[in-house]
Amino acid sequence: MKPFAYERAADASGALALVAGAPAARFLAGGTNLVDLMKLEVETPELLVDIGDLGHDAIEPASDGGLRIGAGVSNSDLAADRTVRERYPVLAQALLAGASGQLRNLATVGGNLLQRTRCAYFQDVSKPCNKRRPGSGCPAREGDHRNLAVLGHSEACVATHPSDLAVAMAALGALVHVAGPAGERTVPMPGLHRLPADEPQRDTVLEPGELIVAVELPPLAFAARSSYRKVRDRASYAFAVVSVAVAVDLDGDTVRECRIAFGGLAHAPWRAERAEEALRGAPATEESFRAAADAELAAAEPLRDNAFKVPLASNVLVRTLAELCAA
Ligand SMILES: Cc1cc2nc3c(=O)[nH]c(=O)nc-3n(C[C@H](O)[C@H](O)[C@H](O)COP(=O)(O)OP(=O)(O)OC[C@H]3O[C@@H](n4cnc5c(N)ncnc54)[C@H](O)[C@@H]3O)c2cc1C
Ligand code: SF4
Repeated sequence: MKPFAYERAADASGALALVAGAPAARFLAGGTNLVDLMKLEVETPELLVDIGDLGHDAIEPASDGGLRIGAGVSNSDLAADRTVRERYPVLAQALLAGASGQLRNLATVGGNLLQRTRCAYFQDVSKPCNKRRPGSGCPAREGDHRNLAVLGHSEACVATHPSDLAVAMAALGALVHVAGPAGERTVPMPGLHRLPADEPQRDTVLEPGELIVAVELPPLAFAARSSYRKVRDRASYAFAVVSVAVAVDLDGDTVRECRIAFGGLAHAPWRAERAEEALRGAPATEESFRAAADAELAAAEPLRDNAFKVPLASNVLVRTLAELCAA
């Protein structure tokens, strides 16, 4: 690991001041991703600004009836929160499907959203990688890409985003509150994470030095009927091959409204707007669910070794909708 300086910020403005004008500075939250990447020398910050004391650790009602979650809330505390479990079960389930108990105790909301891809070439500094070193190439395209993207990828990068939490938040339409050198702003989800296009080095729309302070969930009443399903190569401690976050509102046997997002398919959590559109007003039958999955996945462009993800994603969506609608 390369040597680095360490500072502990007392509040958000102090944290912003410490990273201002220091391009090689990084915020340190739980450190469960950043420190691993530093050990691999994928990340080589000159300064770490510890944001563990900022007090962004509350889960509280928002003024519109939604829920405001501090960026420093641990993944364990968020998954255990009674309001989250009752009103947004998809979020609690997504969190509990990720990492391990010990990691979830340290990992924070902000850090989880901003964790980096698990593409093997990105993590190996002896290999080229456009995301780590722009212009060096993308060996995954012709190499090992079994677990990489089938939607929204580019010539430059075919990586997937690894966060389960982000998929649930994209389905729920969360708002990410950010503070930075230019003031405060709100970034909607989906919309925080980017598709790679020709700048795969940029995972998100955040500017250097911007700090996530909180995430707000809308007061989506039908989110109480929601769930997260994750397919992975082993039963725990593994990232999604394919996952889906679904919330559904029924009017008798008809789908009145729904929210769907996929994980494991793209460089960003993939909000399935075509599937949602196909389902609105449709009978809650397996035939409709399959047609909705087909409408979304028609845009898939699988690589040599990951075409299996397309029928897998379709089956995962159909099964999750069938279970939710029967509940
Ligand atoms: C073995 C293993 C298995 C895992 N499995 C899963 C899994 O199945 N699903 C899953 O979703 N995750 C999984 N993870 C990833 C884990 O969830 C993340 O490492 C964790 O959520 C990152 O949070 P953190 O607080 O530790 O972030 P850090 O490592 O501290 O930070 C990550 C990045 O976010 C930036 N950052 C942190 N907070 C802020 C903020 N508030 N504002 C701006 N920038 C910020 C940091 O500068 C850094 O670039 C796994 C990790 C490991 C090691
Ligand atoms: S897929 Fe993206 S992260 Fe992986 S090697 Fe290619 S450029 Fe790098």
